[in-house]
Amino acid sequence: MSPRELVVLGTAGQAPTRTRNHNGYLLRWDGTSVLFDPGEGIQRQMLHAEVSAPRIERICVTHRHNDHCLGIPGVLNRMAQDGPGRPVTLHGPVDAFEHLRALAVVAAAHVAVTVEGVPTLDEPVDVAEVAGCRLTAQALDHRVPTIGYRLAEPAGRSFDADALAAAGISGRDVGELARRGELRGVRLGDVSVQRPGQVFAFVMDTRLCPAVEEVVRDADLAVLECTYADRDADLALSRGHLTARQAGLAAARAGVRTLVLAHFSQRYPDLEELGLEARAAIAEVGAGTTVHVARDLDVVAVPPRRHPAPVSRAS
Ligand SMILES: [Zn+2]
Repeated sequence: MSPRELVVLGTAGQAPTRTRNHNGYLLRWDGTSVLFDPGEGIQRQMLHAEVSAPRIERICVTHRHNDHCLGIPGVLNRMAQDGPGRPVTLHGPVDAFEHLRALAVVAAAHVAVTVEGVPTLDEPVDVAEVAGCRLTAQALDHRVPTIGYRLAEPAGRSFDADALAAAGISGRDVGELARRGELRGVRLGDVSVQRPGQVFAFVMDTRLCPAVEEVVRDADLAVLECTYADRDADLALSRGHLTARQAGLAAARAGVRTLVLAHFSQRYPDLEELGLEARAAIAEVGAGTTVHVARDLDVVAVPPRRHPAPVSRAS
């Protein structure tokens, strides 16, 4: 099965540095690829990361600031060159629609591009279906309209081989039981348990607000911006960003399993401080969230599935 993983193409917010390219994140998910917030220079970062441009089906943009979308023309050109590419859809807040359309026009690439504006609402809005999973977006709180994205796999079922054997159910009857919920007096719950679907979440430029936790709730892998350290919390508030401490607290309270910190200000050449801050915040909450301080070209795997509870046998 194709891996589910995040390829970090760049980690700089605002301005790139000698060691950090502008933002850009590619999610590989069951053979499809979704590119999030490609800033300037992402075409070249894709070469370094050995990312195939024609595989990208969607480009999801959180807001219209240029460190999150100036890479679109280059990526579209690359897709046309490397073709035959699939048609690509650009998603972004309604507010960014004209900006995204202009970037697609500038590219003048021979790729079929559709631009779709996403309403900026306080509750989740359906964006698309990606490999059988639901991609939604929800408003966050930045200086311009901004949305966070959440990709959620529907819950499945895990069958217990021993319980099936004991109940005398095998072969096609297993599918029949799954469809009907009951077969020859055996209930689905007697021989199987619900398996939680995996969740990926993506939160860029935002002040701390309740929607941050809502977007990343129970995510297996969540990318959160952390532009500032907590000593610059006043700047974070006035410019509409998170500190590393805030990102850590939000992820811990929301039950995130792996937190990827990204979108760093150029004022922090050493990111160790930010990682320590987020980990300290998570320890305060007592959560088990793992922190990954992203570096350009890192590949971060979606953690293995949560194990469902064993089938409880009726006595
Ligand atoms: Zn930014």
